[in-house]
Amino acid sequence: MNKRMVIVSNRLPIVVNQGDDGTWNIKAGEGGLVTALEPLMRKNHGVWIGWPGCGDDAPMADLLKQFTSDQGYSLQPVPLSDEEVENYYRGFANETLWPLFHDLLGNCHFSLEQYRTYELVNRRFAKMTAEISKKDDVIWIHDYQLILCGWYLRQLLPTRSLAFFLHIPFPTPDLFRRLPWKSQILQGMLSYDLVGFQTLRDHRNFVHCVTSLIGGIEVHSRQRHSTVLKWNNRLIRAGHFPISIDADDFIQRASAKEVDEAAWYLHENYEHRQLMLGIDRLDYTKGIPERFLAFERALEKYPEMRQKVSLLQVVVPSRTMVPDYIDLKTQLDQLAGRINGRFAEHGWVPLHYHYRSLDPVQLLAHYRTAEIALITPLRDGMNLVAKEYCACSIDNNGVLVLSEFAGAADQLGKHALLVNPYDVEKAADTLFQAFSMPSEERRRRMTLMRNQIKRHDVHRWLDTFIKAL
Ligand code: UDP
Repeated sequence: MNKRMVIVSNRLPIVVNQGDDGTWNIKAGEGGLVTALEPLMRKNHGVWIGWPGCGDDAPMADLLKQFTSDQGYSLQPVPLSDEEVENYYRGFANETLWPLFHDLLGNCHFSLEQYRTYELVNRRFAKMTAEISKKDDVIWIHDYQLILCGWYLRQLLPTRSLAFFLHIPFPTPDLFRRLPWKSQILQGMLSYDLVGFQTLRDHRNFVHCVTSLIGGIEVHSRQRHSTVLKWNNRLIRAGHFPISIDADDFIQRASAKEVDEAAWYLHENYEHRQLMLGIDRLDYTKGIPERFLAFERALEKYPEMRQKVSLLQVVVPSRTMVPDYIDLKTQLDQLAGRINGRFAEHGWVPLHYHYRSLDPVQLLAHYRTAEIALITPLRDGMNLVAKEYCACSIDNNGVLVLSEFAGAADQLGKHALLVNPYDVEKAADTLFQAFSMPSEERRRRMTLMRNQIKRHDVHRWLDTFIKAL
């Protein structure tokens, strides 16, 4: 693509740190999205707009200048006050849209004040974007924090090319209609030229929502991967574009000597037993208590698993100020204590539960070492951990137990062991099936999943999205 890209996301893709000597430094954030976008951003000197997310004491102007000269594209910070972050981000985005879009109505809070701040902040992002963008730019907005940005941008730039990608799921009309501001959010989404979703189900849910909840919509055409809608004399293309990882990069890094050594040490700790691994942010969508219950039931029902398997659950602290997350943490502490209290024996701890993040080498070593990965969210847009685990299973001997409600199930569901995380009994049976799976079958399934991930990596995701634009 030869046009300049303007990316807009809640957070800028940067990590800002202050060293012991007081000097500040800035570097690009990690993650597949940034890696995939960087070459394009460099080639056409793109701009990334977002909230810097760090305190006021950092010398941002100097750091951003340095970033541009190091990376070849520029950053435009959108300042937010603490109160705005509280209402727009922690409030409306994370306590209303996040649970609603993940089908968890019981966790939704509806507050007019928070919604008003969401409007205000989205308008500010739109204004900044309109000021910076030029006639031939493509503007690409990311995720649920900024849905309304499109609405304001369309008023400011009626003919500019606007794209949106939703990284999280999209709910059915029955759920979506509970949102007091449903029309505004849907009209926001209809302001873009291209609206991308992770799965066919999300794409269809969106089309059902707009056709049933917004007047004057016409389905102009339908193809396998996209639907063109007509609204207010404009055409809007909706499609599904499952995001992925930089598979080659993961494979290469997982094979490095330091990862090899870390994996060896880890393996030593679990000699003669299989390691089941769970890695999730602390989030009620990830189904961690349900996973613990399935593990407990499996130990109860299949005594041959005792002493022969350990579940290592890494929970990365997240949204620690939100009350629902604090409650979840308490629930996990209690469940872990109960399971270990019931089943631990001399020389064997059934459940290792770590509440912290892993550094990159440790993360890859865990992926490489674990014989089984338990990825069992109640609902997930994609779940990159599932794909990363497969990419790093370089000996092709891992088993992936995957929730049917993770977006990744669309690509990996044929060869993973699929579970309904709410069905504790069947999930326990599936854990036993994973535990007893012969190595030939493990190899066959994992090879097929890895081939899929290698073919459909994040670079292909980006190409497909840009072609649709
Ligand atoms: N991750 C990490 N450090 C950790 C654990 C996980 O950087 O200690 C990363 C992991 O590699 C993955 C991301 O966090 O890329 C989680 O993405 P996913 O789509 O699975 O879930 P999300 O947290 O975005 O809902």
